[in-house]
Amino acid sequence: MLAQSVKHLGIQCTVLDPSTECCARSVCEQIVGDYDDVESLKALADWSDVVSYEFENVSASAAVIEDIAEIHPSTQALAVAQDRHIERSMFQELGIAIPAYQPVDDVESLNAALQSIGTPSILKARRLGYDGKGQVLINDANHAADALKTIGSVPAILDKFVEFQRELSIVAARDKHGNIAFYPLAQNVHRGGILRVSKAPARDVSDALATQAQEAARKILEKFDYVGVLAVEFFQIGKGDNAHLVANEIAPRVHNTGHWTIEGSKTSQFENHMRAVMGMELGSTDSVGHSAMVNIISNEPRPGALDALPEAHVHMYGKEPRAGRKIGHVTLNADTPDKLDALLERFTRVVG
Ligand code: AMP
Repeated sequence: MLAQSVKHLGIQCTVLDPSTECCARSVCEQIVGDYDDVESLKALADWSDVVSYEFENVSASAAVIEDIAEIHPSTQALAVAQDRHIERSMFQELGIAIPAYQPVDDVESLNAALQSIGTPSILKARRLGYDGKGQVLINDANHAADALKTIGSVPAILDKFVEFQRELSIVAARDKHGNIAFYPLAQNVHRGGILRVSKAPARDVSDALATQAQEAARKILEKFDYVGVLAVEFFQIGKGDNAHLVANEIAPRVHNTGHWTIEGSKTSQFENHMRAVMGMELGSTDSVGHSAMVNIISNEPRPGALDALPEAHVHMYGKEPRAGRKIGHVTLNADTPDKLDALLERFTRVVG
């Protein structure tokens, strides 16, 4: 989607990916190699004016090519996002509210954390977790040892289970001169730790809530002298005048909760990321109508189902279907929130 977003600007991309079936292959050149293979990384850097990434489990050792090509966003931001404890410490250092949590290394420290945080709580591997992987809900402190085994007995954090009103995220872009553009907040629904639907602009967002999200994103962007797109995911606690946000995590890249911007914004998150890393001015983040993005997970929709809904903007990634895998997404767009809801309801009826 990054490569597609700048085709009209005449910009060519090459992707480094270990799989010969990677989906970017259909839109750009590919170097087949592991993300931490120094020769492949060097080949990519030799070919490129600027190198970026859209998957945060790439090795931060990619920094070895920094002498050959610019890398954006900063590999420091990448390293922070790769470790939940370091990420939470960064939020605290910047004065951004987070759920109560404690780092955990073994059963003893998990028991101590459960004593102070209580249940329900969520044990999350510090590294390499995504889409709900490497996480387990703990309802009973007696199950601590099993929970730690479930996530592979790796260093972790224990998070207090947040009774949130809803999940919101902000996607922001920062250019090389420090200008920042914010997309409106998206409201997100996850099931089993996997994002199902994002709606944007999120409804009933007070100025105070929007400002809280923007200021959190701004602090992070400025800390890293960040160039490119960043997403911050939040839980909204409380309603009305009592509503406030606690931050869950950052993504130093284009983000699934920003996919709606392809059709729902004047400039998509993908194009703005590319514009930023290439030293161009950012495009407008104004919305076009009201959007809902629905992920297609595990299985292809039943044949013909999507044909019955010509208003749906369908993006299939050419990925092999697999349980829990995001293999595409659909964006629905309407000029009013009510029409969007009606479209979403029809989509759910027809496609499931
Ligand atoms: P994460 O991998 O941290 O983004 O978690 C995936 C999803 O699990 C989140 O989007 C939430 O729906 C849920 N979740 C994660 N942490 C918490 C928490 N501390 N309290 C409640 N739900 C959570």
